[in-house]
Amino acid sequence: MPLPQKRLLIVSTVALLIAACATSPLGRRQLKIVSDSEVSQMGIQSFTELKQKTPATKDSAQAAYVQCVSSAITRVIPSMNWHVPVPASWEVVTFQSDDVNAFALPGGKIGVYTGLLKVATTQDQLAAVIGHEVTHVLAGHSAERVSSNAVGSLGTAVASAYTGISTQALSGVTQTLFLLPYSRSHESEADLLGMDLMSKAGFDPQASITLWQNMSKLGGQKPPQIMSTHPSNETRIHDLTKRLPQDLPVYQQARAAGLRPSCGR
Ligand SMILES: [Zn+2]
Repeated sequence: MPLPQKRLLIVSTVALLIAACATSPLGRRQLKIVSDSEVSQMGIQSFTELKQKTPATKDSAQAAYVQCVSSAITRVIPSMNWHVPVPASWEVVTFQSDDVNAFALPGGKIGVYTGLLKVATTQDQLAAVIGHEVTHVLAGHSAERVSSNAVGSLGTAVASAYTGISTQALSGVTQTLFLLPYSRSHESEADLLGMDLMSKAGFDPQASITLWQNMSKLGGQKPPQIMSTHPSNETRIHDLTKRLPQDLPVYQQARAAGLRPSCGR
């Protein structure tokens, strides 16, 4: 490529990246080249595909329990400040699978695998996981993941010609919503904001520490997907413990205001 053209390409790519920057709720700079509605559409599509592949639990009491905890969390979502539009409703599915995993997707989707319920043994521990997962979506992490993957896979030439990337062009990256692990900074943000969220809903924030202790006991040869590889459990537990004095009063206020979830297993 002749030099002037190359220079133009670099300049326009840099311009795209600057224009596409957003800020996360904890003040981190984010790359965002897909619109919130495009990311929602991708989430809804991915969830439909997942429901076709993985059966839902036949245990209705188990599904009702997961629904109960999820609803208590999603009810208080609008009372916090988020950087993406809050979905009007949430669809919750408990999948029959031994995987120790759970996820949330843009477009108001929550999936919990029955295997998780063996590790998250109380309603408060389950609330810690669900709070963490929906925070990934509400803090714009999904949009960020799709954006960085799109820039990487489409290449700078396409990115420089950017005038608005269609959902169709991004269809190949739908899977990134599932397959790519979140980055370390995403995990830390979801841990902290997720703990804020569960406290607001009247769940005991100390349970998020117990949860990661349970997770680390699993560790071993094949750590569960939800743990990802970093941050280490020690770092997580340390950071969550530091946040506790801020969230315990939030939890107590929620209880005093009548938010006392009671979801039976
Ligand atoms: Zn996470």
